[in-house]
Formats: sequence, C-alpha cells, structure tokens
Amino acid sequence: MTNSDRPRITVLSPEVAARIAAGEVIERPASVVKELVENALDAGASHIEVEVDGGGIDRIRVRDDGHGIPPEQVADAFERHATSKLRSEHDLFAVRTLGFRGEALASIAAAADVDLTSRTDGQQAAAVARLRDGRLDRLGSAAAAPGTTVEARDLFAALPARRRFLRTPRAEARAVTDSIAALALAYPEVAFRVVTDGRVALASPGTGDPGDAIAAVHGADVAAALVPVSATRRDEETGAAAEVAGLAGPPSLHRGSRAYLHLVANGRTISSRTIAYAIEQAYAGLIPAGRHPVALVRITVPPDQIDVNVHPTKAEVRFRHERLVYATVADAVRQALAGSGVPLAPTPLALPGSLDGWRGADEAPRALDGRGVIAGARPAPMIVVPSEAAHEPSSTVGSEATSGEQPEMSIGARLPMLRTLGQVDRAYLVAEAPDGLYLVDQHAAHERVLYEQVLAAKRSGTPASQPLLEAVVTPLSAAQASLALAESAVLVDLGWGIDPTDGAAVILRAVPAALAGRDAPAALRDHLDRMDAEERLTGPDRAAASLACRAAVMAGDRLDEEQQRALLRALEGCETPHTCPHGRPTMLHLSRDALDRSFGRR
Ligand code: ADP
Ligand code: MG
Repeated sequence: MTNSDRPRITVLSPEVAARIAAGEVIERPASVVKELVENALDAGASHIEVEVDGGGIDRIRVRDDGHGIPPEQVADAFERHATSKLRSEHDLFAVRTLGFRGEALASIAAAADVDLTSRTDGQQAAAVARLRDGRLDRLGSAAAAPGTTVEARDLFAALPARRRFLRTPRAEARAVTDSIAALALAYPEVAFRVVTDGRVALASPGTGDPGDAIAAVHGADVAAALVPVSATRRDEETGAAAEVAGLAGPPSLHRGSRAYLHLVANGRTISSRTIAYAIEQAYAGLIPAGRHPVALVRITVPPDQIDVNVHPTKAEVRFRHERLVYATVADAVRQALAGSGVPLAPTPLALPGSLDGWRGADEAPRALDGRGVIAGARPAPMIVVPSEAAHEPSSTVGSEATSGEQPEMSIGARLPMLRTLGQVDRAYLVAEAPDGLYLVDQHAAHERVLYEQVLAAKRSGTPASQPLLEAVVTPLSAAQASLALAESAVLVDLGWGIDPTDGAAVILRAVPAALAGRDAPAALRDHLDRMDAEERLTGPDRAAASLACRAAVMAGDRLDEEQQRALLRALEGCETPHTCPHGRPTMLHLSRDALDRSFGRR
C-alpha cells in the first residue's frame, strides 16, 4: 500500500467511539511500550527497537521502520479516538489491525511528555511533534530515516497516585521485556530489540521462524526441544473455522509457571484460561502436578469470528466459536506429542519412595536424604531463628473458620510432638498429638522447613552449597539471565555458584544443598522463574522462599512413612511452623474439644 491510498487518520464518530470497550489503556510502562510497538507492527515495521530507562518510568523510546505518518496527519494522531484503522461500527466486527481505538497516543501524551518523529517514504524530512500536558506544543521537521520514533518521559509525573501503583523499576523493566517477548513470538518475521538501562534484554532475529523467536526469548535449548504443532478445522454448516500452528515442548520440558505458555490469536498476544487449559489437557498425566508445558500456539480464525473489543488493554478476546477453537488446539497439541514419539499413556507422577530417597517421575532422587531434611530417623536440626520471622502471620488460621459452627483451629506457637498417621491424596499428612488431630499440607510444610534452613545457613555466612563435579554452561532465557545478573549476590548467598557469560547463559558451578541431586540447570531456571513470579512478595526473603518452593516436595508426591515422619519432625523444629514462607497455612488443627462438639458429644 502506498501512502496515498492508505486511510487517513480521522476522529471516530461519537457513536463508534461509544462502542469501544472503555477503560484505562495506560497502567504502567509496559502498557505504553505495548501500544507503541503495536502501532509499529500495524505500520508494517520489520525492525522495532525498544529502549527503557528506569523501568520505563524515566524514559521509553520505541523506534520502527514502518510506513510512518504523513506530516499533515501527525497532529491528528494525538487526538482522542483518532485512528486510520477503523471507520464504521461495522469495521469493529472484523478488526485486522492491532490498534483500532485511536486512544493510545492521546492517552500516552496525557500521562507523559512525548516527542514523536515520523517520516514516510515519500517525504524528504521527518515531521517532529512535541507534546506537553497532552497538548501539541510544537510541530516541526527534522532529518530522520523513514519510520517512526516515539519517546515518552517521566510517566505519571503529574499523576502521583498512579505512580504509587508502579512496582520497582526492575520489575517494570521486566514487565516491558515480557510483553515484547510475547509480541516477538507472535511476529517472528519482525526483528525486536529491547534495551533496558543500556543492557540488551531481548533481541529476536526476525527470520520468520518461530523457533528462532523462541530461542531468543527462552534460550536455544528450549527451542531445540520443541516439536511443530498444526491443525485446521472447519465446520461447513456454521462456517466456523480455526487454524492452529506453533511449537510445543515435550512433556519432559515442563516448567514451574505458565510463563512459557504463549497464545496468539490473529496476531494478538492473548491470555485465555480456556485455551491454556486446552493445551494443558494434552499434557494431562504426562507432566507432574503443578507443572506447566512450554508452548507457542498461534490461532487464526476469520476476522469476524473473533471479538477483540472486549478488554481495554486488549489482553482478552472472545471467539465466536470457542469450542471449535478449543478442540482444534487440543487436537493439534495432542497430535504433535503423539507424533514426537512420547508415550501418551499416563505415567505415574511419583514412584514409591524408598527408605533413603524419593523419586519424581522425571528427576534424580531429591535431596531429601543426607541433609537431615526428610529421610532418616534423625531428629531435624534445631534451627536458630531469625528475629524477622516474628512478623509472620500469627497463630490463628482462617479467622472465619474459628467462629460459628466450624471446628476450632487454634494453634500455639510451637508444635507439640506429632504422631504420623498417614498421607491423604498424596498431598496432606494426617497426624495426631495430645491436643487433637492435625492435617498438614506437605508442600507448604516442607517449604517452611527448607525456608528456615536456608535462612539459617545464609545468616551463618556459610550457605549450604554443593559444588558440581563439572561446571555446566547453562543457557537461560533473556528474562532469566537478566534476573540472574541483577540478583547474583542473593543467589550466591543461597548457595548457587554461578559465573556470568557474555550471552544469555551462565556457568553453573554449585547448587544450594537443598537442590543437590536435581538436574542443576533445570533447578536454576526454575528458581529464577519462581523468584520472578514472586516479585510481589514482600516481607519474607523472596529468593529464599522461591528456593524453598522449588526444592519442596509437591502435592502429588508420594511420601513413605519414614519421610512423612521426618517431615513432621522437621516441622516441629521450625520457629514458625504454621505458615509457609508465603503466609499460607501449613496445617489445620482440630482439637479434641472441637471434634467432640462437632460429633455432638458435648
Ligand atoms: P490506533 O492504533 O488505535 O489507531 P493510536 O493512538 O495508537 O490509535 O494511533 C493513532 C494513529 O496514528 C494510528 O491509527 C496510525 O495511523 C498512526 N500511528 C501511530 N503510531 C504509528 C507508527 N508507529 N507508524 C505509523 N503510524 C502510526
Ligand atoms: Mg495504536
């Protein structure tokens, strides 16, 4: 399309504007970046560069080599509801571009100081616009390459209430990188580069191969393991159609969070519980409970079978024929796994443990022995307890549960001696004590035990660490690598031995003792992912909590009697046994009294 036949930017009629899902477009730096990058994609850019300083709060710059804005339309682009992408209400039902509301530039200019430079191919010079307080302050021209550059500074400077809701600059920078990573996966033919505070956080090559985009985002080893996914379905009667293409990981590649599940619908990165579920269903029984597959699934439906106008930040969409889409995705992934030769019959997720170890489906025996953590009849080591632990939520669990007809769940500070009665549903331990019955969440309890041990070791200045026989070069995703770099001191304190390299990899020399015996590179990646997911956690030591969570037994792990006893004994030794590091309860207590009352004995 040449510039002369490209639609002009015009203000939408009030009727059309009123039909657009209203709401806050700009919540944080990542939303500014996402809108600007979507504009660049709509402009047909093949190279997009994003720079953010101070998490994007100080400065955001997005530069593209797209078709640019004709000089006489630059001012219009900043009008509210001004767009070149939508004309009539009718167009709303078949949107083919990422933008369509004409709100982004206006909203960004209202929230930050904006400078835009844009040159179309036909123009000798670029148009330059300067906006202050949401108003056009100066319009001029300058020499520049074809394409558009938008710079936004001091986001929310005039809106202190909004600024208070922002997280740390590092967290905001991460959110920026994550949202661009998602777009890089949706647009493998476009080369993206994200620089945060002078450091390249992400660089995708733009080869058009989704595998190359995955390699840029999640590392070459992840990309190499993926198998192609594809399926098409059409219902002649209703005209419903869906095409699915992408890449999916083998079950052995499971991860601790859904951050590796990427969904794209008609070029939009979306979040959809339903579609995520369709993918995870294909892995049911193949990966351990609480773990998630790696996949990039790109869905294409006719433009009139998807409603993109549901959510102000366009994160959600509605499929007109959701069941067909669901079935196509589930099918595609299932076939890909079948074709890759992995066994599709459910495998047991945990093998019966032996006296001196526990074995998960996919990993070497966990380090539950030798460290006096779970295995063995030794009493758990007494832990010297950090005084900060005193701020942990105190002795009563579930305040609503203590009132009314519910049995009491009063809990003292330390645990009495517990007698193990067994395991329920591979998730809970049942125990009795002189004061009644205890139900213990095995994962939360083990997390608490490990958390206190890790903190005690850290405090003692000698983190419990186990050197690897041979250093391992560990490829990381761009996000993991920047977290590893930023938190290297913290990681060392916990027992990791890592040296940085030039690229998105580290050299792994030692692992925290709690993780000894595991696949070390996988454990590091997981720990980083978890630290990332727990960014919001305040109070307890986030990195230690993530490590404990990573190392703890999971719901679904079978524990033999000896292991059950050892875990409860270790919990008895904890200073704050009643909550996990995240503040969730580790146990329920039913006093004898409560039992008697519940059964009408009193
Ligand atoms: P929308 O994307 O919903 O149309 P925006 O406020 O984001 O609204 O942008 C307004 C208009 O400015 C767009 O419709 C487009 O014509 C133009 N525009 C914005 N950014 C760019 C860009 N990077 N390259 C070319 N044109 C752009
Ligand atoms: Mg836009």
